[in-house]
Amino acid sequence: MPNATHISYYHLCHRKLWLFSNGLNMENQSDLVAEGKWIHEHSYGRRSERYKEIDLGDVKIDFFDVRTRMVHETKKSNKREYAHVAQLKYYIYKLEEAGIDVKGGILEYPKLREREEVFLSDTDRNNILLWVRETQDIMNLDVCPVLEKKSLCKRCAYHDFCFSNETCLP
Ligand code: SF4
Repeated sequence: MPNATHISYYHLCHRKLWLFSNGLNMENQSDLVAEGKWIHEHSYGRRSERYKEIDLGDVKIDFFDVRTRMVHETKKSNKREYAHVAQLKYYIYKLEEAGIDVKGGILEYPKLREREEVFLSDTDRNNILLWVRETQDIMNLDVCPVLEKKSLCKRCAYHDFCFSNETCLP
């Protein structure tokens, strides 16, 4: 089953999804650790007692507010992306699927000083079934999807790989 990162990448770039899911991880581990630390310091450092971590196997939710029944997701990005909303909707969907009483989620952007509430509709529930199917299909492709230039390419961890005439491995 896809995890939330796969669903996010499905919305960002199918090539990125394929590269990531087929083991080509270009994201620097120390950068990821630093990002996690930054998020804790800027969002939940003094509020951690309110939040519960929930491990659903293929999906791990770091901050579930047991009092408000809302999932909190913080993004270091200074740009809003639909992929962030999709990732949070997937968290909510998976919690519902596991029989956990969840109301919705809150996306937080400390750099923008903005937050957005996200809720799941019946249309979303149907769409997520489609996302999961298509995400799985892309992950299982024998070769990676062709390169399509996007505005996000410049800040993508795969930029050098995609734009240096590298051959995609099956
Ligand atoms: S550099 Fe662009 S085409 Fe390549 S994986 Fe990233 S977003 Fe996709």
